[in-house]
Amino acid sequence: MLASGNPGKLREFAQLLGGLGLKVRPQSDFGVHDVEETGLTFVENALLKAREASRVSGLPALADDSGLEVDALDGQPGIYSARYAGEPKSDARNNQKLLDALAAVPTAQRTGRYWCVLVLLRHAEDPVPLIVQQRWDGQLLEAPRGEGGFGYDALFWLPEQGRSVAELSAEDKNRLSHRGRALRELMAALRASPGYL
Ligand code: IMP
Repeated sequence: MLASGNPGKLREFAQLLGGLGLKVRPQSDFGVHDVEETGLTFVENALLKAREASRVSGLPALADDSGLEVDALDGQPGIYSARYAGEPKSDARNNQKLLDALAAVPTAQRTGRYWCVLVLLRHAEDPVPLIVQQRWDGQLLEAPRGEGGFGYDALFWLPEQGRSVAELSAEDKNRLSHRGRALRELMAALRASPGYL
């Protein structure tokens, strides 16, 4: 079970784990609702989500807490990436707010990175959660490019690819992304701990 209701994340996890013969089911299948993200770090929020999902369902849960850290904005939107422009959550309004906040920032200083923290809990009181965190560096564009992905992808430029994330194929995004890297690290950690799950 993925402790999330974010359709973009669910799609990517389904693609990433489908290749391993694993099926991803959203928390809504198990009657789990979004928990309030009161932590001050990605890892705290991922733990809150996984613990709530595991508590309600009685099953192991995987949670992703992720976001965009922009250097010129002292790390904003960071852990508030999903609700940067307030409630209700809106990728379009978040992107516009980010463009406005960066309007006076020259290209060389428009650096940032996505972070993805994954937490796997075997049960709600698991004292030994499996935790990984990975980053994906890029630059913030001055106007959106591309239609793929979700969230801030149309504004996130990858200099080595000569494309925005929204211009990548789903396969390329999963190969390169913070989430793809974090999930591969998690799977490697599981393989290195036989019997953990
Ligand atoms: P969370 O669901 O509280 O972890 O918030 C994640 C938010 O971070 C998303 O709603 C997006 O705004 C942003 N984000 C995380 N990963 C990505 C990504 O792969 N592409 C674009 N935006 C992302």
